[in-house]
Amino acid sequence: MKAALTSIRKELAGIFPKAEIDSLVFLIFEKMKGYSRTQFLLSTEEILSEDERIELEKMVTRLKNHEPIQYILGQTEFYGLPFYSLPGVLIPRPETEELVQWIIQENSLLQPCILDMGTGTGCIAISLQKNIEHATTLACDISPLCIETAQRNAKLNGIEISVFEYDILNNTPNITFPHLDVIVSNPPYVRESEKLLMERNVLEHEPELALFVADEKPLIFYERIADFAHLHLKSQGRLYFEINEAFGEQCVEMLQAKGFSDIIIRKDIHGKDRMIRSVVGRS
Ligand code: GLN
Repeated sequence: MKAALTSIRKELAGIFPKAEIDSLVFLIFEKMKGYSRTQFLLSTEEILSEDERIELEKMVTRLKNHEPIQYILGQTEFYGLPFYSLPGVLIPRPETEELVQWIIQENSLLQPCILDMGTGTGCIAISLQKNIEHATTLACDISPLCIETAQRNAKLNGIEISVFEYDILNNTPNITFPHLDVIVSNPPYVRESEKLLMERNVLEHEPELALFVADEKPLIFYERIADFAHLHLKSQGRLYFEINEAFGEQCVEMLQAKGFSDIIIRKDIHGKDRMIRSVVGRS
């Protein structure tokens, strides 16, 4: 294995920093052989089988092509829970864990009925259902692949949520919604013009549909979801968004104009405006 490790490190050098290569190599071996960190460190004298060498080579080629490790492994972690992660479905981000934390803090005593709009892997919906006692969680997405993935992820985590197809911009008709206590969404919010600032692993491999909005209408999803929230949230129901750090103030103004109250912006761990909560009706 020593020779294989040396060769992987050499192939990846120049593409990733050394510390990242170390963690990528460990993740690959954890996936391939089920090794813990200690087992991995003790296994350098082991001989790899031909199949293992081929599998390893395939994974390294994908990494060299800037494909995210989460897609290569087929799995990732969010809020301490496992999630299947595959091309076509946005990889859960740590900022979103902060949003989930906020929702859990504010809604744990409610036995809430929750809807996650644009659920992707289902990471928000599933971690809420898992951590809020007696919650009933629904999740929707426009993408059939996301719906299937979110359903598989719910099963992986041993919980039930209801996942269905819904187009936020075109208001899929013929769906009856229950009265909701909480609506949450992490909709597409990166402006096309921001593509220039983005990393290859995101730009070349993650689904555009989940990420980008036109520069001229950066809040389109937020406006539609706010209108939807007026129709389907109970009085005093809460609406939570993950937001583009550049649009905190505009989101607040939009929500105020639509009659929401108790609007709060929260920063992520990097100190950027990243999430917003508002309440329907007067408090
Ligand atoms: N935070 C994500 C990114 O910058 C974007 C997520 C989204 O558009 N909702 O890659």
